[in-house]
Amino acid sequence: MEPTTRQTRSEQALPATTSRAPIAALPAVVVERIAAGEVIERPVSVVRELLDNSLDAGAADIRVELREGGRRLIRVSDDGCGIPADELPLACQRHTTSKIAGLDDLARLTTLGFRGEALASVATVADLEIVTSTGEGGPACGLTVTPHESGSKQWLASRERGTSVTVRHLFRAVPARQALLAAPNVEKARCLQVIRSYACAHPATQFTVVADGEVVLQTPGTSLQDTIIALFGVDAATGMLSFTASPLPSATIVGQVSSRSHTRTTRDYVMLVVNGRLVANRGLLAAAESGYRPLLRKGRHPVLLAALTVPPDWIDATTHPTKAEALLRHEREIARSLQHAIHEALGAAPATIDPATPQAPRFHPQPGLRFPPHGRGRSRASAMATSLLRERSGAYGQSLSGPLTAIAQLNDMLILARGTDGALYLVDQHRAHERVLYDLLRERTVPTDRAGSTASFDDPMSVVNGYMKDPSGGDALGGQMLLDPQLIELSTLQARQLTARLHELAGLGLSLQPFGGQMFLARSVPTLPGAAHLLGEFVRELTIEASVDTDDWLDHLRASLACRAAIRRGQSLSPHEQQALLDDLAGASAPAVCPHGSPIALALSPDHLADVFEW
Ligand code: ADP
Ligand code: MG
Repeated sequence: MEPTTRQTRSEQALPATTSRAPIAALPAVVVERIAAGEVIERPVSVVRELLDNSLDAGAADIRVELREGGRRLIRVSDDGCGIPADELPLACQRHTTSKIAGLDDLARLTTLGFRGEALASVATVADLEIVTSTGEGGPACGLTVTPHESGSKQWLASRERGTSVTVRHLFRAVPARQALLAAPNVEKARCLQVIRSYACAHPATQFTVVADGEVVLQTPGTSLQDTIIALFGVDAATGMLSFTASPLPSATIVGQVSSRSHTRTTRDYVMLVVNGRLVANRGLLAAAESGYRPLLRKGRHPVLLAALTVPPDWIDATTHPTKAEALLRHEREIARSLQHAIHEALGAAPATIDPATPQAPRFHPQPGLRFPPHGRGRSRASAMATSLLRERSGAYGQSLSGPLTAIAQLNDMLILARGTDGALYLVDQHRAHERVLYDLLRERTVPTDRAGSTASFDDPMSVVNGYMKDPSGGDALGGQMLLDPQLIELSTLQARQLTARLHELAGLGLSLQPFGGQMFLARSVPTLPGAAHLLGEFVRELTIEASVDTDDWLDHLRASLACRAAIRRGQSLSPHEQQALLDDLAGASAPAVCPHGSPIALALSPDHLADVFEW
C-alpha cells in the first residue's frame, strides 16, 4: 500500500503556528476585551476545546477517547508541540495562554484558542490530567488538577512528543449540571458530529475516535476527499462537486458539496470554516442554504464544506463565548458569492450513473476493531475506498454549463447531445424548456416593494389599473390579453391573498381585476417564447395557484407557468429547435435541475463508456 503524502500544515486553511511562545498571563485589557467564559455545558464542549488545543499545537494525529459519551472520560491525545514542564502548572490557570500576548494580537489571530481559559474552566468541573512532552530529550511530565482541591500534583512521565489531556467525571462535583446531561448515546452522538466536522475542516490531520473501547471513526489525514470517504462513504465522496469563488481580492472560498443524490435530512454537515475555524455564522449559513435549497427536495441538505480564507483582521471570534459564532467583515459580499458558487456547482451537474462495478466498500469501522497502534497507519479499508474512487472519478465532474451540440432526438422526449468534454448527454426536452422559461419568469418579475406598494385589500384598483390601461391591448410586461376575459370566484381567504399579490402577478403578465366580492376578472395571461400551449386555458388554475397561503407562492407559480408552457415530451423537434433549446439551457441558472428539483440531463462520460465497453 502506497503511503499517501501528508499535506503540510501550510496547505490547510489554518495558518501554521510555527513558533510557540511561552504560556503567560494575559494583561487585564485583553481579558476585558474578550467575551467572558468558556462555558463547559456538556462533553462536546470539552471535546471542542481540546481539539482546538491539539490543532493549535500543530498535531497531525489526534485521538479522542470517550467513555459513556464523555460523561465518564474524555481523552484527547495529540502529536503536537507539547508543553514545557515548567509551564505546565500555568496552562490550567485562568487567562494564561501562549497564543496571544496583547490586544494587537487579537486582530491577527491565527490560532483557534486565545482566551487561556479552557483548561482552567474544565478543571473546575472535572478531574483534569495532562501528560505532555515537547520531545526535546527531557522527560515527559504529568499534572493532575481536581475541582475544589487547592493545588495540583505534578509528576514525571514517559511519552512521545505531544499531549494527552484526560477529563474524568465531568460535573461530578456539580450535580445540578450533571442532571442536565443527556443519555451517553446522545452525548456521544453530539461529540461525533463535532469531531466529523473538525476532521473535514482539517483533512490533513488524522482523527481517530474510540468510544467505549471501539474505534468508531477514523480519517486518513490526507485529503478532504479521502476524509469524506472515511466519514460518509465512497458513494457520497464520488459525487462531491467542487466550487471556488473569490468574493473580494483578498478573500477566497473553496468548497465541496455532495451531489443531489447524496443528501441528508439535517443541516449537521453543512460546515463553514473561516481561516481554519468552524463557525456558525448565521448570514453565511443562510446564504449556503439559499444556494442549494431551490435545487434539492424539500427538507434535504447536502454534505457541504466551504472553507473561507480571509485576512485575519476580518474575523472577530472574540465576541462569542464558545467562539462558534464569528463576526466577519464584508459578510454580505462573501455570502452572495458563496450562495452563487454553491448554486452553480449543484445546478450545473447532470445526473450520472454509477459504473457497473460492484457496490463499493464503505469504510465503517467494525465493532471490535482495536485501537490501532500509535502511528500513521492508514486503515486498509479506507485506502481501498480511495483507490476505487480514483479509478472511478473520471466518470464524474461533467457540467452542463458548457455548450452542447444536438445529435438527435430520441422518442420525441430526449435530445441526445455531445458536450465539449466528449460526454454523451441525454436531455429531457420538457424539463430543459421548463428551466429556461422559469428563469425568464424570474427575470421578468418586478421586484416588490411591500412597504411602498399601494395595493391594499380596500383599494386594489389603484395598482392594477396601472397595468390594465395599457393602450396596446397587451401590457408592457409580457401579458397577452384574453379575447374572452374570464370571471373567477375565489374563497374569502384566497381572495385576500390574491388581492395582496395583484401587483406582482401583473408583473408576470397575469392581470386580474377585482370584480367585487371574491370575484376577479382575468384579463391577460403571461406570454412565453416558444410556449407550446396557450396559457389562457389554464387561467383559472393559475389564479387559484396564485392565491395559495404560502410564502413561496411566487416560485411555485413561476414553476407552474413554466411547466404548463413548456414543450411536452412527445413533441417532435427539428434539429434547429433541438439546438436552440440546448443553447438556451446552457445560459440557464441551473441547467441540470428543473424548477421542481428533478434532473434535466444524464451524462455518460467517455471514461464511463470505456469502462462499460471494457475498451
Ligand atoms: P488557550 O487555548 O486559549 O490558550 P487553554 O486553556 O485551552 O487556553 O490552554 C492554555 C495553554 O496550554 C495554551 O495556550 C497552550 O500553550 C497550552 N496547551 C493546551 N493544550 C495543549 C496541547 N494539546 N498541546 C500543546 N499545548 C497545549
Ligand atoms: Mg484552548
